Amino acid sequence: MVGKTFVGEKTYILRRKPGTAFILNRPVFIKQLASEAEALEAIIQTNDEIKTVEELDGDYIIDASGSPGLIKRELKIDKGLKAVAYQQSLRDANCFKEDTVEIIYSFRYGLGYYWIFPRNPEIREVNVGVGFVDKPDVSLKTLLEEFKEKHKIEGKINYTTGGFVPIGLQPPLMRDNILFVGDTGVGTFPLTGQGIYRALISGYDAGRCIAEGKPNLYPKIIREKFIKWDVIGKTIILCSNVFHKIDESAAFSFFNLFIYLSSRAHLWSVG
Ligand SMILES: Cc1cc2nc3c(=O)[nH]c(=O)nc-3n(C[C@H](O)[C@H](O)[C@H](O)COP(=O)(O)OP(=O)(O)OC[C@H]3O[C@@H](n4cnc5c(N)ncnc54)[C@H](O)[C@@H]3O)c2cc1C
Repeated sequence: MVGKTFVGEKTYILRRKPGTAFILNRPVFIKQLASEAEALEAIIQTNDEIKTVEELDGDYIIDASGSPGLIKRELKIDKGLKAVAYQQSLRDANCFKEDTVEIIYSFRYGLGYYWIFPRNPEIREVNVGVGFVDKPDVSLKTLLEEFKEKHKIEGKINYTTGGFVPIGLQPPLMRDNILFVGDTGVGTFPLTGQGIYRALISGYDAGRCIAEGKPNLYPKIIREKFIKWDVIGKTIILCSNVFHKIDESAAFSFFNLFIYLSSRAHLWSVG
């Protein structure tokens, strides 16, 4: 797997060893998880929309209802930083590359990026998308269409999605007997592509803490794992916004400096 990141005039290439980075087919993966859970006698109810927290019953509850999650909205404790994103899945895409993910940074409206990720090789399908930390005054769909035109990207739109992307930890991670996982708890770290990864880790940790009779340990475990990236991510966003106020090229220079320094500090490696 190759990751190409474009920051202004510079291109960074990150190579992952085979078997260390994956494109996840979510519906298939979720189905597989559900069968394994049922084999362990978990009771799964589908098509059951929870309308209010009052409906929930149990010694412990794990909330994985996304961003902004139902419970946090109802209890008015949804406080974390959010970005906005929009994505199209294109079949028979002329930009399909099976083993390559591409990220193209933009500072037109503060910190943001476009992406091109391979999805389904059988139909040469890709996900192309755009996200910005601050909501731009133009629609994300318009920005994505402009991007596709500029890069001569063509393909039939199969599916579109979009919404909030929670940036970094979304406190609180626990309230009474409710543990918040995934987007409603641990959030994402888009700079390194951690969304689903963090959802899986936090779901596992919450389940393990409850099974071991130590649910109160959950917030501590999550903070220990992710606080470093939270501080780095939020500092980068703050500095990017300051440089963006000067102009776009100042923001690109700052971001390139960040990549250089962080790779020297072995936070990640780029080639
Ligand atoms: C456009 C876009 C592109 C993205 N691309 C990537 C990517 O390439 N890689 C990556 O790792 N991450 C990506 N992310 C982030 C990723 O989607 C999330 O981090 C991840 O899905 C979080 O998983 P989750 O289970 O916490 O929440 P979700 O995937 O949002 O799942 C929440 C679930 O809860 C259900 N639900 C909500 N409310 C209720 C209710 N009241 N009753 C019953 N059920 C309810 C929903 O139906 C849904 O099934 C992207 C996000 C966006 C918006």
